[in-house]
Amino acid sequence: MESKKINEIRLAADLQTDSIVDGPGLRAVLWTQGCGHKCKGCQNPQTHDFNGGGLVPIDMVLEAIDELEYQTGLTFSGGDPMYQPEACNIIAEYAKKKGLNIWVYTGFTYEELMELAKSKPIYLEFLKNIDVLVDGRFILEQRDLSLLFRGSKNQRLIDVQKSLESGKVTLVNETNIDTVEEKFFKHAPMYI
Ligand code: SF4
Repeated sequence: MESKKINEIRLAADLQTDSIVDGPGLRAVLWTQGCGHKCKGCQNPQTHDFNGGGLVPIDMVLEAIDELEYQTGLTFSGGDPMYQPEACNIIAEYAKKKGLNIWVYTGFTYEELMELAKSKPIYLEFLKNIDVLVDGRFILEQRDLSLLFRGSKNQRLIDVQKSLESGKVTLVNETNIDTVEEKFFKHAPMYI
């Protein structure tokens, strides 16, 4: 049976630009709607409802990406983008081809996603288009404001391509952030 073509994505807001807190550089952020993790202390409870926000044609998001200027990359946040892997993958693939690096925030762990990918290959397809995955639920008791681009100590900045290649979770080297910038962010006109 032919699988249904996905042509809409449920979003909590319009595509944001110029974020400096959702990954390095100046970033566009796609706020997906829907999350089932129910983390205590979540800062975006309005994004949990799977029927909330609004359905937006994916083509419209791609057009908004075409119009981006001075953005280093595209970050998927929410909500949890991993509840809409097909739609997010279409957008990530498109943005990546345009030279944007891709960061994704998810409440699932990398290991959980790899497990899901065994029955739903779209998860692996999406991971193949992601540079950095910020994984794991937000755990209030482990909150640490000094952490780079994440809220609690259990969450990791994962170099997805290296992890897929090696078959084991490989973290972004935060102490070598210049190298990371060079690798991922060479298209950036500026760094803040
Ligand atoms: S995964 Fe993120 S959006 Fe979902 S409940 Fe946890 S902190 Fe909130």
